[in-house]
Amino acid sequence: MTEHVTAAIIGAGFGGMGAGISLDRTGIDDWVILEREPDLGGTWQVNRYPGLAVDIPSLSYSFSFEPNPDWSRLFAPGAELKSYCDHVADRYDLRRRMRFEHTVTEAHWDEAEERWVIELSDREPITATYLIAATGFLSQPRVPDIDGIDTFAGTVIHSTDWDATADLTGTRAAVIGTGATAVQLIPEVARQAESLTVFQRTPIWVVPRIDMEMPGWLRALFRRAPLTQKVARKGNDLLLESLIFGVVHHRQAGFASRLVQRGAQRFLHSQVRDPALRRQLTPGYSFGCKRPTFSNSYFRTFTKPHVTLETDPIARVEPDAIVTESGTRHQIDTLLLATGFNLWDVNFPAITVVGRDGRDLGKWWRENRFGSFQGVSVPAFPNFFSLASPFGYTGLNYFTTIEAEMVHLSRVLGEARRRGAPTVEVTETAYDEFCARMRRLVEDTVFTLGDCATARSYYFNQHGEATLLRPTASWRAHREQQRFDLAAYRFSPAQSRSEPSAIRA
Ligand code: NAP
Repeated sequence: MTEHVTAAIIGAGFGGMGAGISLDRTGIDDWVILEREPDLGGTWQVNRYPGLAVDIPSLSYSFSFEPNPDWSRLFAPGAELKSYCDHVADRYDLRRRMRFEHTVTEAHWDEAEERWVIELSDREPITATYLIAATGFLSQPRVPDIDGIDTFAGTVIHSTDWDATADLTGTRAAVIGTGATAVQLIPEVARQAESLTVFQRTPIWVVPRIDMEMPGWLRALFRRAPLTQKVARKGNDLLLESLIFGVVHHRQAGFASRLVQRGAQRFLHSQVRDPALRRQLTPGYSFGCKRPTFSNSYFRTFTKPHVTLETDPIARVEPDAIVTESGTRHQIDTLLLATGFNLWDVNFPAITVVGRDGRDLGKWWRENRFGSFQGVSVPAFPNFFSLASPFGYTGLNYFTTIEAEMVHLSRVLGEARRRGAPTVEVTETAYDEFCARMRRLVEDTVFTLGDCATARSYYFNQHGEATLLRPTASWRAHREQQRFDLAAYRFSPAQSRSEPSAIRA
C-alpha cells in the first residue's frame, strides 16, 4: 500500500515551515515535510561558511507572529538563525511531521486518483492530495564550469557545503565570486589565510552595515513589552522597503535609488583610497539591478597587503593554480566557490513536476515564459502550490514573501475544504492576467529603465526577462494575497469523489 497524506511539503526551511503552520491553521494536520538534508532550516542548515549572518537587520527577519527578542546583534549570526528555525519547529509542533534525508526526485499528477505521486530517491513513493514546493529560490548551488576545475589538487569548497574542519590558517586561498555570500566570506578568509586572491567577474553594490550588539535592556524591553518590538520591526521594514522603492518604482522614484547609489559610491570612496582599486570595485550597472549587500569590512579587505583583487577573467584551473586569460598564474592551495545558485535552469521548480496532460512545469516554463499566479500557482497543476515561483519574491526580506504566500494557501485550501472540493486549480485567465500585469509593472522598474546590461543578475531569466521579483511593494503584495478574487481558482465539484481526500484530514 502506498502511503497517502493530505499534503506533502517539499523543504524544511522557513517556507516549508510557514506552509505547515498554514495547513494547521486551515485545519489540515495530516501533512509531511520531505527534506533532502539531515536537519531542518533550509538555507540556515546548509550554509555554515565563516562570516555567515543575516544580511538584513534581524528585527525584520523572523515570522511576524513569532518574534525573537533575543537576537544578539542587529545582524544576527547564522547559528542564531538556525536556532530560531529549531525554535519555530518546536513551538509549532512541526518537527514530528518532518522526514529528513527524503529527496524528492519527481512528482506527477494522477488524474484518475486526483492526487500527486511523489517519487523519492531510494524510498517508496508516497501520494498526497496537495503538493507544496517550498524549495526556496536559492537551493541549487552553482559549480562553475571552468576549464580544468576538476583537476585542482587542493581543497575545493562551495559556500553551501562548508567543511567545518577546514583550516585556512597559513594557506594560499582563492575565492571565486563577489556576490552577497562572498561579501560575508572574504573578510573572514582574509583573517586566516596567508594570502587571498579574489576573482571578480562583476562588482557588487555594497552599503554600510549599521550593526550593533543588541543591548540587554533592549532585549528585556522586547520581552516584557512585545509591542515595542513590533514598532521597531515596522520602522525597519519601512527602511528596507524604502531602499528598494526606487528600484521597483523606478519610473516614478528613480531618484531614490540614484541617491542610494551615490551613497554607496561615497562609502566605497571612504573605504578605499587607491583610485584604480576603487574603479575595479565600482559596478557598471544601476543600483538595484542585482541584489545589493551590506558590509563594513568587505571593501577594506582589498586594501590589505596579502589580498589581491583579480578582475582578469579566469582561463583555466590547473592542479595548483588559477590562470587568467592574460596568463597570470595564481598559485593556491584552497579554492573557495562563492559562485551562488542556478535559478533559471534547475530551480524553477527544483524538482521535476508533471501536471495535467503530462505538462512538465520546468520544461513548460523554459520553453514558454516564466510566470505564476500570485507567485504561487500555475494552470494545469491542480492542488499544487510552489512558493518559489516567478514573480513570487517581494522586497528584501524573505519573510514578507512567505507570510503573504501563507495567506494565499490558507484562503485557497480553506475554500476547498468549505466546498468539499477534491481539486483546485488556478484558471488560465487569472494566470494570464496576473502575468500580464506583472510584466507591465516590470516596465516601471530599474530592470527595464536602469542600466542593467552588465549586471549578470539572477533577477533576470535566460530570456532576459526580470521575472524573479514581484514588482510591487511588499505590503501591497500581502494585501493582494488577502483580497484576490477566489474565482481565480476552479474548485472541482465535491461529488466527483465519494470521499474527497482533501477533507479526510
Ligand atoms: P550570487 O549573488 O549569485 O553571486 C555569485 C557570484 O559568483 C557572482 O559574483 C558571480 O559573478 C560569481 N560567479 C559565478 N560563476 C562564475 C564563474 N564561472 N566565474 C567567475 N565568477 C562566477 O550568489 P551568492 O553570493 O551566494 O548570493 C545569492 C543570494 O543569497 C544573495 O543575493 C542573497 O539574496 C542571498 N544571501 C543571503 C545571505 C544572508 O542573508 N545571510 C548571505 C548570502 C547570500 P557574476 O556576477 O559575474 O555572475
